[in-house]
Amino acid sequence: MAAQPVPQETHQPIGSEGRHRVVVIGSGFGGLFGTKALRRSDVEVTLIAKTTHHLFQPLLYQVATGILSQGEIAPSTREILAGQDNAQVLLGEVTDIDLDARTVTSKVLGRETTTPYDSLIVAAGAGQSYFGNDHFSEFAPGMKSIDDALELRGRIFGAFELAEIGAQRGENVDHLLTFVVVGAGPTGVEMAGQIAELSHRTLKKDFRAINTRHARVILVDAAPQVLPPFGQKLGAKAKSELEKLGVEVILGAMVTDVDERGIEMKFKDGRVERIESVAKIWAAGVQANPLGKTLSEQSGAPLDRAGRIAVNPDLTLPGHPEVFVVGDMIALDNLPGVAQVAIQGAKYAGKEIDNRIKGKASQGPFHYFDKGSMAIISRFRAVALIGKLRLTGVVAWLMWLALHLVYITGFKSRVTALLHWAVSFIGRGRSERTTTEQQIFARSALSRLKGGAADLVSDPGAYDAARAMLETTRRAELEAQAAEEARLTDSGERGVPVEQRVG
Ligand SMILES: Cc1cc2nc3c(=O)[nH]c(=O)nc-3n(C[C@H](O)[C@H](O)[C@H](O)COP(=O)(O)OP(=O)(O)OC[C@H]3O[C@@H](n4cnc5c(N)ncnc54)[C@H](O)[C@@H]3O)c2cc1C
Repeated sequence: MAAQPVPQETHQPIGSEGRHRVVVIGSGFGGLFGTKALRRSDVEVTLIAKTTHHLFQPLLYQVATGILSQGEIAPSTREILAGQDNAQVLLGEVTDIDLDARTVTSKVLGRETTTPYDSLIVAAGAGQSYFGNDHFSEFAPGMKSIDDALELRGRIFGAFELAEIGAQRGENVDHLLTFVVVGAGPTGVEMAGQIAELSHRTLKKDFRAINTRHARVILVDAAPQVLPPFGQKLGAKAKSELEKLGVEVILGAMVTDVDERGIEMKFKDGRVERIESVAKIWAAGVQANPLGKTLSEQSGAPLDRAGRIAVNPDLTLPGHPEVFVVGDMIALDNLPGVAQVAIQGAKYAGKEIDNRIKGKASQGPFHYFDKGSMAIISRFRAVALIGKLRLTGVVAWLMWLALHLVYITGFKSRVTALLHWAVSFIGRGRSERTTTEQQIFARSALSRLKGGAADLVSDPGAYDAARAMLETTRRAELEAQAAEEARLTDSGERGVPVEQRVG
């Protein structure tokens, strides 16, 4: 069958006649703060993002380990911007940017939209890097999205469930009770600390056949220390705190293979070791969004090894003063990939656009103000680096708590997050332990479809009678299946071997 042409539509911001059109790509820290920075400007902003929510990535590990719900860290972008009259939200994955035509092309479920702009803010962030071994991702999901966090939640809690079944049958379940976190940066440290708390504290009374306190939590990194950006002293402190929690820290080990049942690593002396583990988490390395490559090819701006694009000191793309790039996508003065770089850069870009419209002078080059970094290790334990000040223990943990509470978007989410933290940190519970089979397997299932989720919906526009007939047949099959399921339940035949059933 000949491929159907993708239906296209041009998006004109409502009320845009004559007004300066700003397109913002991404609804993360850069995209949201860039849009908000323009709330009082005489512009029409269209924020295009591939998800309907704004994601607070630093708390993803808490969703993965059952402390917070996804809603608390991922509020609806539309709801956040509902009160900003000059902003509208367009759902879609940006597939192309045409710098000459000044248009952005986005796609959702086979529907393609082209949006023209006068100014553009690109804040599409970064993804996980498997250092050229993308196939590792099938067995060791990264942690970049709500989907990732929910899948990991399913895999972690699911491993304990499978271990319980195996142990009841007298099987060896060590591989199910071994959790490996790859990458000893803040995310890896936080994740390892939380899995250790889960197994040693939260779940200790919930199972009968297994002792969750015997679970192994292993943190692996090729670097010689934990939390390299925090310096040696804080890194050593974080390592010893993790070890007190029962985490095994393996440093100087490069992961060379990952499969369904385990992970293989190679040490500097050539030794190769394999760890049998079903639940593995990848928290090592980032790769800037591929839109950086699109911009690089058209502007000639170079990319670094992590795919980040070199921008001018005012965050504009070389040769394109109307295009700003902010956040995790940029290579400028060795700025780190942290939330504050994205927030401050986006505010700067918004102000710069506003200045131009008002005929005001430029602010000059962008200057990043480093407010410090912190990582939580377990309840009441964190490390923080603020300027030359190094903080550890409860003080750092309280600072972490206060800061994250300020940055969580929305009053509702702040209140519920606080409640869930009380449940987890003062008590030993986890409020968000729900997991489903689909959470764990949907990613792999979707990746097997050629066109992804678009294969599961009807084409936009044209009506395909042949396809509709196939769908009707499938529907009839599903209905018959459902009727048979209901009959089995009603007649009490469920669980009875087929040959013993009546009728
Ligand atoms: C697990 C984790 C923990 C972290 N912890 C911390 C921390 O403790 N402190 C800290 O400062 N930083 C932390 N960071 C880093 C911080 O979250 C990032 O630096 C920050 O989010 C970067 O903001 P951004 O706007 O550049 O990208 P993002 O916040 O990643 O936003 C990118 C946006 O672009 C959208 N997008 C991507 N591609 C497309 C496309 N093709 N079309 C349309 N939309 C697209 C995405 O859906 C998203 O909305 C953490 C990151 C992770 C992953």
